[in-house]
This record gives sequence, structure tokens and C-alpha cells, in this order.
Amino acid sequence: MYEHMEFAKPNHVRKGMTPQESYWLEKIESEIERDKRNQRISGGCGLGFLNFVEQMKKICKLGSETKANIPCSYLFPREDPKAVAQIEKVEWSGVPKSRGSLLYLTKLFVLDTERDNGIGTNFVQEIKRIVDETGMVLFLRAESFSFSNEEGGLPYSFYNMDDLLQSWEAEKLTSNDGDMVLIEWYKRLGFLNACTHDGDIWPVKDYHKLDKQFLYVGAKNPDQDLYLNRTNESGMCAFCRNQK
Ligand SMILES: [Zn+2]
Repeated sequence: MYEHMEFAKPNHVRKGMTPQESYWLEKIESEIERDKRNQRISGGCGLGFLNFVEQMKKICKLGSETKANIPCSYLFPREDPKAVAQIEKVEWSGVPKSRGSLLYLTKLFVLDTERDNGIGTNFVQEIKRIVDETGMVLFLRAESFSFSNEEGGLPYSFYNMDDLLQSWEAEKLTSNDGDMVLIEWYKRLGFLNACTHDGDIWPVKDYHKLDKQFLYVGAKNPDQDLYLNRTNESGMCAFCRNQK
């Protein structure tokens, strides 16, 4: 997960905006036309990225609405957020249809004071519901992490969202030993282990473990088999297949 933490760059930085804001807007605008087409095809049942964002806005405050002004991040619940997820729109060149449907859950974090009270589970279930309704596909790499004030430093705790968001983009992440719990958690929530690699954009790294790579295919996605094939040995890259 760490190698993809750096944020994608926009084609053009817009006047008065940060590169990340510009990137976010580019993504939204480029999806509007595609979503309009999808809606015509699907009879208006709301497939596509723009609808995903619209649905997420109903339950989440957008990171761009906060003082910290963080794009591609969703704060849950909308009133008095306790958890935050960064979800980026990406694609796999090996699956041309993934353009417009594929999402990468870059990171998800629950305030330390809110651990173990089910808020993270609620949040992920809501994300799944919206992925189902909008026909999106979500993948992630389960790595437990905390934040630090220096590279490789000790983790510290966050008790309120404003403090957390200040560190959200600096991404001085420090891993912790919760990976097994996290892996079980995603499995219980219905995520499937899958190959998430794709050429040079999502390259294999020697530390990638198949049991940490997860995929969730939305119920209304029209090309479910293309994605679910990646959960089968035959649909995996050689590196993942050898871990079966
Ligand atoms: Zn793979």
C-alpha cells in the first residue's frame, strides 16, 4: 500500500487551486459525461463514479469541505466524523472497462478514541452498499498503520478529526502489528482476496501478500466476471498465483 500513497498529479494545475484539488476536479469533470452515458444505458439507476461521489456525500463530509481541504477523502459520519477514508479513482490497463468503475481504497483510519465501537465496520458497510448501488469495484491492500511526526517514528494517537486531518496528507505512516486482525476484518466484511496488480501502474512488489490484497465487486457492476476472475488462480499474475 505504501508505494501508492503519493497522490496522482493533475494534467493542469488550476489557478488558485492546489495540484490535488485540480486533480480531483479533473476526475469529476471527466466522469460527468461518462456517467451521463452510463445512466442512459442503464435506465438511470445511477451507475458510475459521479453517482458514487453523490451517494457518499449523503453519509460523509467530503475532505474538500473541511478546513484541511483534502480531496478524495470521505469523513464519516457526515455530522461529527469519527473515521476517514481516502478513495481514489484508478484503472487497470489490463481491464479496459475498469476505467470509470475502479476505486482504490488508499487508506482508512478511525480516531483512536473510537476504536472497537463499530464505527469502522459501519463505514465500510456503507461504502460497500454504495459500491453495490453504483456498480463500482473497490480494491485495497490491508496494512495496519498509524501516523507519526517523523519518517519511521513512533505512532501517536488522535482524539479529534481536525488533528487527524492535519497529518492525513503528510502520511508519515508507521506500521503496527494489527495486520492479522485487519485481514480477518475485511474477510468478514465480504472482501475477497484477489490479484490487484496491473503492469507498471500497479506493479508487483516482493512484499505483496495475496492474503492482504482485497477486492469488492459492486452488485450492479455489468462486468463482474472480469473482476472476479482475479480471485481465481487462473486470473492472477504469476506472483500472486504462486502464493496460492
Ligand atoms: Zn498479482
